[in-house]
Amino acid sequence: MSLFFENPILDYPFPPRPKLLSEQEKQYYRERIKTLLAERNAVLVAHYYTDPDIQALAEETGGCVADSLEMARFGSLHPATTLIVAGVRFMGETAKILNPEKTVLMPTLAAECSLDLGCPIEQFNAFCDSHPERTVVVYANTSAEVKARADWVVTSSIAVELIEHLDSLGEKLIWAPDRHLGSYVQKQTGADILCWQGACIVHDEFKTQALARMKALYPQAAVLVHPESPQSVVEMADAVGSTSQLINAAKTLPHRELIVATDRGIFYKMQQACPEKVLIEAPTAGEGATCRSCAHCPWMAMNGVQAIFSALVADGGEHEIQVAAGVREKALLPLNRMLAFAATLKS
Ligand code: SF4
Repeated sequence: MSLFFENPILDYPFPPRPKLLSEQEKQYYRERIKTLLAERNAVLVAHYYTDPDIQALAEETGGCVADSLEMARFGSLHPATTLIVAGVRFMGETAKILNPEKTVLMPTLAAECSLDLGCPIEQFNAFCDSHPERTVVVYANTSAEVKARADWVVTSSIAVELIEHLDSLGEKLIWAPDRHLGSYVQKQTGADILCWQGACIVHDEFKTQALARMKALYPQAAVLVHPESPQSVVEMADAVGSTSQLINAAKTLPHRELIVATDRGIFYKMQQACPEKVLIEAPTAGEGATCRSCAHCPWMAMNGVQAIFSALVADGGEHEIQVAAGVREKALLPLNRMLAFAATLKS
């Protein structure tokens, strides 16, 4: 059984587009960042959706480019005392919750996520309070406060397995905040899920009719879809999965052409994984009035080299992630449960 709670989707403030830098300026910042990372015993941890420049810099400097689960693992295991998290704020908060002894800096704390913004703690508390019999599972894309309220945190890479596990224990669940991923997981597992109605502004934009037209143009292509996309788009997919799973699918599927429905930032690592393949962006509503993201997250785009340089120079202040001790202690529990569960899957 699947029940859906009719909570409103909020209207999100959108960040300004970052200033474009010349190649010379970029090169200047890259060199300065390399020096500062070494001087400050810092490491750059970047998400797959950041710009290719940032991903290349993370690789070049011994950092990592990964999904949010792997970013959390890497940050915890790496000996650096400062983590520069190039992503969105919940990723920085997760790094701080797992590593309270480390300094966690972000290029900008204004890098939000529509899923996080669409699940404010006061409304979420009221929602959970009215269903006390349900186990609360929240996606990693939530604030530290929402995680502190949860029994489990989960990422898309292990969502189906975790919900299957909880369902096998007979647990009824609250799922938040992504409605499309919640619906996908519910269909895969048959679990009893009450779902929050948040959405990712990037994946919500993929359109079935335009995708069908693109499929007609590239009849031999496979379609790869992230499950934060609407169900009708997921149903057209040859492979559905998290960012890491999509990169893996791109490598292993026999198709030479791949239509990819997720943030275009992923193309950098996907093309590295299978240089012989042709990667095609799945269509969104286009640069028209209704398209708010056009396959690239506006908050991920805030992670430029200039902002990373500023974070390293400022050494804290407006770039440093802080999580209140009480919230941290509570949020650590469901995060550690997730990491332990992910480890059992790996082994
Ligand atoms: S791509 Fe979507 S889920 Fe990811 S940070 Fe941006 S808004 Fe959030």
